Amino acid sequence: SALLIGLTGGIGSGKSTVADLFAKRGIELIDADLIAREVVAPGSDGLKAIVDHFGDQVLSDGGGLDRAALRRRVFNQPEELRWLNSLIHPLVRARMIERGRAATSPYALLVIPLLVENGLQSLVERVLVVDLPEEEQLRRTMSRDHNDQALVEKIMANQASRAQRLAAADDRIDNGGNLADLNTQVEQLHQHYLTLAGSHE
Ligand code: ATP
Repeated sequence: SALLIGLTGGIGSGKSTVADLFAKRGIELIDADLIAREVVAPGSDGLKAIVDHFGDQVLSDGGGLDRAALRRRVFNQPEELRWLNSLIHPLVRARMIERGRAATSPYALLVIPLLVENGLQSLVERVLVVDLPEEEQLRRTMSRDHNDQALVEKIMANQASRAQRLAAADDRIDNGGNLADLNTQVEQLHQHYLTLAGSHE
C-alpha cells in the first residue's frame, strides 16, 4: 500500500498551495475537510445521527446539513460540541484510513489541517509541516479572506502554535519565500518520498 504522508500547517500557511504542487506530480490527495463533509452528506449515517440528536432544525430546505444552524446549536454548549466531535471524528478517521489504503500513487498525502491539534499522527507514516512565521500567516489569511485581524488572530490562538507543529514534524516546507521557491522544495521532497516509497511495503 501507499506510503502515507500527513500534510498540515496553520491557517493560511499554504497547505492547499503545496497540496496542488504534489497533485501536479500525480500524487493522490486525501483531504480531511472534504471527508468531513462527506460523512454528513445527505443520506449518510452521520447526518441521520445528527438529526436524531439535534432535530430537523439543523436541516436546510434541500435536506442537507445546515451548518450555520448546527453551529448556533453547539455554540457555547461544550457538552453538545463534544457529542458532535465524538460522532464525526471517528467517521472521518475511518474514511481517511480507507482512502489511504485504496491510494494507487507510490505515496499519498493526507491533508489534515488539525493533525497536531487532534493527535492524528498515527494515521500517517510521516508528518510534513508547511511552516510560516505567524505575522506572515496572519497577513496572507487576511488578504485572502478579507477577514479582520481580530478574527484571524482568534482562529490562530485556537490552533497549535508554530512551535508545537514543528515539534511534530518529520519534514518541513518553508513557505516564507515565493512560489518558485515553494515548487523547488516540493520537488525535493517528492523525490525523497518516492525513494522512501520504494522501500515501503
Ligand atoms: P487554510 O488553512 O485557510 O485552508 P492553507 O494553509 O490551505 O489555508 P493556502 O490557501 O494555500 O493556505 O494559502 C493561503 C494564501 O496565501 C492564499 O491566498 C495563497 O495563494 C497564498 N500563498 C501561498 N503560498 C504563498 C507564497 N509562497 N507567497 C505568497 N502567497 C502565497
